[in-house]
Amino acid sequence: MGKIRNKRNKKRVRLYKKVRNVSSWGTLGVLLFLNILFIATVALFTGYFCQYLMESKIDADYEALVREARIYEAASEDNSFAEYLKKGDREFIVKDSSGNIIDQYGKNTCSNEGGYILMANGSEKRNIYKDTEHGLFFAAENHEISFDIFDGFKLYFNEEYKKLENGESIRFPVWISVSINGGTKEFIGKAYFSINTKELTLAGEIIGSFVLVVIIAFVVMIIFMVRSIINFRRVVKLFYADSITGGHNWIWYVMYGDEKLQCRSLKKTSFAVVNIAFTNYRNYCMCHSISEGEEILVKIDRSLNRQIRTGEMCAHATTEGFALLLYFIDEASLRQRLTQMMDILQNVDKDHNFIFEAGVDIIRPAVNSNGVIVRRLDCSIEKAYNNACTAIDVQGETDPGGVFIFDDKLLEEQRWFDTVQENQMKAVVNQEFDIYYQPKYDPKTLELKGAEALIRWNSPEYGFVSPGRFIPIFEKNGFITEIDHYMIWHVAADQKMWLDMGYKPGCVSVNVSRAHFAEKDLAVQIRDMVDSAGCPHDLLEIELTESAFFDDQNAMIDTIKALKSFGFKVSMDDFGAGYSSLNSLKDMELDVLKLDAGFFRGEKAGDRGQIVVSETIKLAKSLNMKTVAEGVEEKEQVDFLAGQGCDMIQGYYFAKPMPKLEYMQRLAAKMQGPAAPVQQPVQQTANPVQSAPVVPQPQQPQPGQPQQ
Ligand code: C2E
Ligand code: CA
Ligand code: CA
Repeated sequence: MGKIRNKRNKKRVRLYKKVRNVSSWGTLGVLLFLNILFIATVALFTGYFCQYLMESKIDADYEALVREARIYEAASEDNSFAEYLKKGDREFIVKDSSGNIIDQYGKNTCSNEGGYILMANGSEKRNIYKDTEHGLFFAAENHEISFDIFDGFKLYFNEEYKKLENGESIRFPVWISVSINGGTKEFIGKAYFSINTKELTLAGEIIGSFVLVVIIAFVVMIIFMVRSIINFRRVVKLFYADSITGGHNWIWYVMYGDEKLQCRSLKKTSFAVVNIAFTNYRNYCMCHSISEGEEILVKIDRSLNRQIRTGEMCAHATTEGFALLLYFIDEASLRQRLTQMMDILQNVDKDHNFIFEAGVDIIRPAVNSNGVIVRRLDCSIEKAYNNACTAIDVQGETDPGGVFIFDDKLLEEQRWFDTVQENQMKAVVNQEFDIYYQPKYDPKTLELKGAEALIRWNSPEYGFVSPGRFIPIFEKNGFITEIDHYMIWHVAADQKMWLDMGYKPGCVSVNVSRAHFAEKDLAVQIRDMVDSAGCPHDLLEIELTESAFFDDQNAMIDTIKALKSFGFKVSMDDFGAGYSSLNSLKDMELDVLKLDAGFFRGEKAGDRGQIVVSETIKLAKSLNMKTVAEGVEEKEQVDFLAGQGCDMIQGYYFAKPMPKLEYMQRLAAKMQGPAAPVQQPVQQTANPVQSAPVVPQPQQPQPGQPQQ
């Protein structure tokens, strides 16, 4: 589920980025490009227009000038032409190939500063020179006509402008060069560019319209940009809004949360990633309606947003979960703050009793190998939030309404929990659970009296797993009832087999979990199972852990009575392990009291513990119960217990829990002497095999010798 959600979120974030880029930079880029294109087109068009204007204005004069230049050229052979020319009003100069003036007519105001005009048809280039007196037109070298704006221009223009007011046209001098005599000379004549009011107005209008169009395009672009920014903001709001609460959603939390955790300026700040879970939300919806439930979620979201500080974050993450990112100072103040927050949340609707839980993952500054604080570039808020959820999942049941802080050990535990849960059924089907027997001995006679059956998981994947690592998980997830059945049936089958083999197996005790006692017909289930294995009832003892006696006492009394009426023995396990169940002894007629191993841990003769043990044995005797001392490892303890009249000892001093075959050897040895039947055990299938198998020659057991 987590992976799918993660994938979906990543997809949504990618989609969001696409939308963001298209609506902001994409649109702006396109608009900018179009605008530049438009301005360039207008500028080019204006340039061509000016060129056209120039051409149309000076073309006629140019033609006359060329003619006169040719006349001058011809006049170098026939002087009469030159004289004719000088009668006209064209002012000109003639330069030789070195640039020296070799002839001049009229006032020479032509400067050396020049360029050329490329005519509108693009094929003709005309050299022109600036007029030093008026200087108005100047052809720039890059082929384009431009106005040469200098002080003289304004003065000249002002004077000429008056003419325009009178309806006259104004004339600007332009010196144009024509090469003559095969390019060895240059005829530079003064031509005029004249323009009247009408033409000037037209030109002004055309250029004005171009400028207007550019301005309009610019304004349109600005409007588009502003609109696209507003739209983008709307998209962002929609994208980050939670569909239920209207506040921030999970995507917003992940996007900005990661940014915050990885931010350079916040690298020294510690954060708490928190999951606040509304644990009875489903119940509330069930009793009311989903829409009423959602109204409560809206109130919670608002309340949390009011409670967080500037720079902290809050979002609706899952149906009943809210994700917070808080500044972290120390654990005590965080716990206090979260508890207060949840107290306030409980009051969002005073008519109902809401339960909240908080899971926390603390993000501290990251330090490199040199001990220097660095940016948390690998930090993921999603992972931290997942950890915060795990903290609740793993510990939540122990303290509803509490604040649970995640650590890596928890994650390991959770993983192991999941592994066991995933493999439990397969392990039963593949017969991966082995039964070990821990013998119980009479401390006086050193005789083998029976055993306790203890489960072991021999997993091909995880190796040899002790019950402490999986029984508590089965108790939590309910699979323990399967295990109890498995054990009872197999032990009954083993007992039956040993009986058939001629052994005197004694009574074997089996642990039955307290969770199992909730089933009213438990005694009948056990009886039927044992009967199906064909085992006499008095060969089986049911161990109930002491803590179970605090559950439904009446149900317990009924089950014990029923078990006893069927002929089974019933014992109280772990007596003295922390629960005071003397009262239970009064109400329940049990057969055996198992003294907890805690009595024999580190106790020396004469200790107060010994007094308690001897008094407990006396109490059991007066209640007509047998006693078994568990966890006995020392000879002095054995001697002491023997002296106090303890009936049996189950401890490493005599034997550790052992595989079936080894226990059978002890049973065989009990038969004393070589006459003991030599039979082989048979692998059990779904139904116990009751044939008479052969076992190896029994070995003489070594009671009284400490076991390794
Ligand atoms: P328990 O029922 O109190 O079992 C006794 C535990 O004490 C066993 O641990 C046994 O190996 C250990 N023990 C016995 N003598 C000594 C000793 O001299 N020194 C020390 N240090 N330990 C000793 P084991 O087998 O690891 O079982 C642990 C617990 O797991 C059991 O405690 C029982 O609560 C549970 N368990 C084991 N097998 C089953 C089963 O088949 N069904 C159920 N429901 N629970 C089981
Ligand atoms: Ca036990
Ligand atoms: Ca025990």
